[in-house]
Order: sequence, then C-alpha cells, then structure tokens
Amino acid sequence: MPDSRQAALQADLDDPLRAFRDEFDIDLGGPIYLDGNSLGRPPRATAAAVASVLDEWRRQLVSGWDRWIDLPRLVGDRIGRLLGAANGQVVLSDSTTVNLYKLAAGALGARPTKGAIVGDLHDFPTVRYVLQGLAERERRRLVLVESDPVEGPSPEQVGAALERADDVALCCFSAVNYRSGALLDVAAVTEAAHRVGALTLFDLSHAAGVVPVGLDAADVDLATGCSYKYLNGGPGAPAWLYVRRDVQPQLRQPIWGWFGQRDQFAMARDYDPVEGIERFLTGSPAILGIAAVDAGIAPLLAAGMPEVWAKARRLVALLARRSEERLVPRGVSIASPGDPARRGGHLALAHPQALAASRLLVERGLVVPDFRRPDVLRLAPVALSTSYVEVWDAVERVAEVLDDGAVHRVVAAGRIT
Ligand SMILES: *Cc1c(COP(=O)(O)O)cnc(C)c1O
Repeated sequence: MPDSRQAALQADLDDPLRAFRDEFDIDLGGPIYLDGNSLGRPPRATAAAVASVLDEWRRQLVSGWDRWIDLPRLVGDRIGRLLGAANGQVVLSDSTTVNLYKLAAGALGARPTKGAIVGDLHDFPTVRYVLQGLAERERRRLVLVESDPVEGPSPEQVGAALERADDVALCCFSAVNYRSGALLDVAAVTEAAHRVGALTLFDLSHAAGVVPVGLDAADVDLATGCSYKYLNGGPGAPAWLYVRRDVQPQLRQPIWGWFGQRDQFAMARDYDPVEGIERFLTGSPAILGIAAVDAGIAPLLAAGMPEVWAKARRLVALLARRSEERLVPRGVSIASPGDPARRGGHLALAHPQALAASRLLVERGLVVPDFRRPDVLRLAPVALSTSYVEVWDAVERVAEVLDDGAVHRVVAAGRIT
C-alpha cells in the first residue's frame, strides 16, 4: 500500500486498470470526485450511444422497436455477467423501488401461508418503506433486525431473527449498506433463509459494479439494484432485477402489464405471463436510458469484476489507512467496518462538523463527497475512474478543511440530495 504521495503516483503508473480512466469524462482541474456511489461518472462513449438511438428513432420511427424490444433482456444479460448470473435471469425495468415492490410482492405470493418478512432496521429507507407497505397491505409481520449501524447485520443475527420469526416468507437485505459500506455475507444469509423455507431478496444498489456478488453461486432467489451508481448509467437510469431461473415460474408479479404477457402483440383478452424473466417487465422500457446503461457497464465488462474488486479494495484500504493517520487525530471516527473483508466500495467518516466540511469541500472545488445525516461523510473511490493519488490528496484536503476555522461557521442550509 502506498505510504507516500510519491508511492501513490507510482501505484497509479503500475495500475493494470489505469487506461480505463481515459474512458471517462474527467475534468482534471476539477474537484476529486468521491461520490460515484450516488451517481457514477459518464463514460465518454455514452453520448454517442444515446445519439445512435436518437438517430435510429429519427430514421426508423416505430420500426425501431424491432431491435429495441430485446434490449431490456440483452443488456440485462450483460449486467448479469457483472453479478455472476447466467443469461436469462436479469432484465432492465422500472426503478429499484418499483422492482423491490414487484419482487417482494411476488415472493409473498409464492409463500401465502407464511406470516413474516425479515429485513434490516438500518437498510436504505426505500427498502424499509416498500417492506412496511407490503406488510401492511398483505397483513404480514415485518421483523427488522436491530443490526449494528456500522458492522451491518451478521449472518448469526439474521439466523436468530429467522428462528424467532419462525414462519418467514421473505428475507430482504442490502448486500452493501448504503451508509457504512458494511458487506453482507449474501451466501450465508441465503442459506439460513432457505433452511426455513424463505425466499431471499437482495438490494445490490451499492454492490453492483464493485463487488462480484456471485448471484448464481450463492443460490440467491431475487435481487435488484440501480444502474446510476457504480454502473454509470446516468441520472434516473432504468434499474435491473434478477430472478433465479428455477424461481421464475413460481412467482407472479403484482403489476400485470403487457410487457410481461406471453405473445404480447396477440393482444389477448386475459393476462397470461410469459415463462421467462420477461414476466417481470411491466410497460414500455426506457430505451434511451438502457442505451446509456449499456455504455455505462461496457468498461466494467472489459476490465472484469475480479480486477475491479481488487482495485476497489486497495483504494478503500488506502483511504481507511490515510483517514486513520490524518483524520482520526482531527476528531473523525471511521463509521465503516474495520475488517477489510467486511467492507464494500466506500468508507463512512463521522465527524460533528461533517455537514459544514462537506459544504466547504464542494464550495472550494476540493472534493465532492457525500453527506448523510446527521454527521457522516461517505467517500467512494471508484476502481475504473479514481486514482490512488486522488485518494491520497482527498484525505489531505479533508484534513485541511477540518483545520480551517470556517468549518465551525458554515450554517446548515439548502437541500441535501
Ligand atoms: C440508491 C439506492 C436505491 C435507489 O432506489 P431508486 O428507486 O432508484 O430511487 C435503492 N436502494 C438502495 C439500497 C440504494 O442505495
């Protein structure tokens, strides 16, 4: 691990992924971007990919659909390669929130007599809200594991909740916690859930494109995630969903739309869902958005997930060590697991002045971090577009801002996204 700025520069020269940085549109004079887990950077190829669909639209008009109609599945298969999923199990559709609803409702429908849903108290709010809404609607019990906010739920805690809840239909967790970056043992949770006959649903929004999840190998039933974080699909990009092949026929989703219908253009009177993964589609897919997702994942596919994950871990390890050395003495506490094996691609730093510090970092054009209430800066270096020296310099810039008296004067104002 680099132990000087010079060594960080050398690590960049030795980095086997270094050429990928040029595939992204990076303003070298701009701030250091460490918010790729909120919105990934645009690949340079995205503009041409979207322009090409605009051109197809102009030239082919409605007959463009002959090609476009297969894109949710074709690009889904490519996302599947990043997640360890064989073809025919991933499609692009709707948003993550809507997909969580579709998949969770489908799972409950497949376990009609079981009374409970198990989730995580500290999961991303949309996950909790969807589960709360479904529990109320379907008259099931929602059991939230009181996980450690830094370490995340342990497989033992999940196991205990499954035993206590005793008639669990669905077990729903995030693979990487949005705040602390805690990495869940997806295979262990799935095994525990399957022992009691529950289905598993994982939100992979902070895992896809950074952690090689291995969905098929872990025997996961259902998963979904967004495409605008590490998958670089752009703001509001269509999300993806995964349903393991043998689970597909067991599940019906709650939105009966014509894109999930067998022989869609026969316009049959009654809903009869198609056999495969496309039964989880609803209505017309967002083709321009899907084209951007396809361009967004191309560099990840070219680099390969094992290499991406290896560099992501090195970047986070460097960030953690430099934060220990430079920021902990300035009142920061590291709000992510200390064990590198239990961390995903980002690090959370807690400090009483975190909000003011994040404002100053942005206003002064130093670093783009992410702030989470009440006191956390989330920093996410991204394997293909962040350099080691940027991690080194970013920590120095955070230290500089924490040393500045202005950090105590910045008044909280404005909207946090
Ligand atoms: C970012 C994120 C989402 C986003 O959901 P949308 O429906 O795309 O707004 C969902 N879940 C998790 C865990 C996230 O981190």
